[in-house]
Amino acid sequence: MKDCIFCKIVAGEIPADRIYEDDMILVFLDIAPINKGHALVVPRGHHHSICSVPSDIRARMMERAPEIAIAIMRATGADGFNFMLSNGTCAGQIVPHAHLHIIPRSPADGVVLPARSVPYENADEKHEMLAKIRERLAV
Ligand SMILES: [Zn+2]
Repeated sequence: MKDCIFCKIVAGEIPADRIYEDDMILVFLDIAPINKGHALVVPRGHHHSICSVPSDIRARMMERAPEIAIAIMRATGADGFNFMLSNGTCAGQIVPHAHLHIIPRSPADGVVLPARSVPYENADEKHEMLAKIRERLAV
């Protein structure tokens, strides 16, 4: 896609700190890291949503991501990591090209990921939601 910054990075039109690449994906350092070593895994082809990325490419992303995360932990001394994938503007997706964040984590790194719990009104509401999701599952 012409105006997509990640497509330009994939094409080499914009420089990036490349960690890994193959025929399906590219992994590079995030320009605004949450922690040092924060990287992005992107498909080479332009897809706004992770849901439209072909399954073999999604599989490659998730196959490589833990391997890259291990290398990042070893390089940074991090004790763990978060995978984060924001899909859609309401979820915080800024660049409209699907991407998986690998964020190295340490106990005192000060990173606070927003978290809350929205309880179901009762067991019936939960079971209705469960049924709706299962009915719409396309696998
Ligand atoms: Zn793109």
